Amino acid sequence: MLPINKCLTCSGNLEEKEVTEMVQGGGNTVSLKVTALVCQKCGERYYHADIIRKFEEIKAKLERQETEDFTLVGQSFTVN
Ligand SMILES: [Zn+2]
Repeated sequence: MLPINKCLTCSGNLEEKEVTEMVQGGGNTVSLKVTALVCQKCGERYYHADIIRKFEEIKAKLERQETEDFTLVGQSFTVN
């Protein structure tokens, strides 16, 4: 558990929840489910240090185009 129990932004109560987070790098996006503490008032999310490290690892892999560990679940499009 994180060493906080109140939101640092608004002092709201934090609740442990499973959230879907998007990590972007090298033009690609990975979405993953992680446990975060979510503020019930403003929605701010707080992550454990090991989860932040995981985001950074994924981002670094995306930037190096090392996507073989990831499962392709769809394609992203944009409208110009
Ligand atoms: Zn808050």
